[in-house]
Amino acid sequence: MIVVMKNDASWDQIMNVTGHLQDLGMQVQVNNGVECAVLGVLGDTYTVDKEKVSLMDGVERVVPVQEPYKKANRKFHPDDTVIDVGGVSVGGPDLAVIAGPCSVESAEQLEGIARSLDASGAQFLRGGAFKPRTSPYSFQGLGEEGIELLQHARSITGMPIVTEIMAPKYVELFDEKVDLIQVGARNMQNFDLLKELGQTRRPVLLKRGLSNTIEEWLMSAEYIIAAGNENVILCERGIRTFETYTRNTLDLSAVPAVKQLSHLPIIVDPSHAAGRADMVEPLSLAAVAAGADGIMVEVHNDPKHALSDGPQALTPKAFDSLMQKVRALQTVLG
Ligand code: PEP
Ligand code: MN
Repeated sequence: MIVVMKNDASWDQIMNVTGHLQDLGMQVQVNNGVECAVLGVLGDTYTVDKEKVSLMDGVERVVPVQEPYKKANRKFHPDDTVIDVGGVSVGGPDLAVIAGPCSVESAEQLEGIARSLDASGAQFLRGGAFKPRTSPYSFQGLGEEGIELLQHARSITGMPIVTEIMAPKYVELFDEKVDLIQVGARNMQNFDLLKELGQTRRPVLLKRGLSNTIEEWLMSAEYIIAAGNENVILCERGIRTFETYTRNTLDLSAVPAVKQLSHLPIIVDPSHAAGRADMVEPLSLAAVAAGADGIMVEVHNDPKHALSDGPQALTPKAFDSLMQKVRALQTVLG
């Protein structure tokens, strides 16, 4: 980090800033330029409150020279992180495919879908039990009963289960019953929830917020890791742009960007990105081609009557066809 002093900063002010940084354990090199003094600050500058330094007398500005996240940063962890989710690896050479309905609706619905997804080659079963709906009048999910139905489907198929958590008070329950805890887009910056999830070792699927930058997203991952849980998988699910043709705009560039910036696995959810079933296949294939570690796809046995997100749900048959294309693409990509 670099601290640029004002051109009329006094020697006392320079020494005051230097002393403050040294008290925090930093090494400070004072460079007296022609125009102004510039302080080069070395050490674990992640812990320095840069706003506070920028407000000190004589300071012109503080310039960070590295990303504000450390534990999620590839610089400090060059190898890819591979995460064990219920016995299946995410982030290694194999593509992780998570599929299932937007919402768990009934035992029959979930069991039927789970069996066909398993037969098509998906490794993980998803299904929302606690649903973050825009309208309070929309179906809110089956709650704990939904998690029990997911557990039952897991006992039949052996597929690890993925479901969304909405509040810190449920962390213990999810830790006990769920293989991969999803933090939805709307909760990406629910910092209390992130800290609480950091207290567990249960893998977390952290979706990108509706209007969040890649850096903000990685800072949210940092919250979970800094609190003690290194098992974080990122999920790009489309961001808000001016475009209204699709529900969101899939930011595929996030895949190579995250691969450069971080060691964490990244998967892509084309269903919430597009909001339309007809685009799920091309976007899934594009995600695989872009280097994603996995995809998460919504599948419903009867999309027209789904209690949530029917327009973007693939039928089990369409999902099977997608899986065949994904496999063919993987062969081509080697
Ligand atoms: C979901 O996966 O069911 C969901 C609500 O997604 P998002 O948080 O990305 O909108
Ligand atoms: Mn959904």
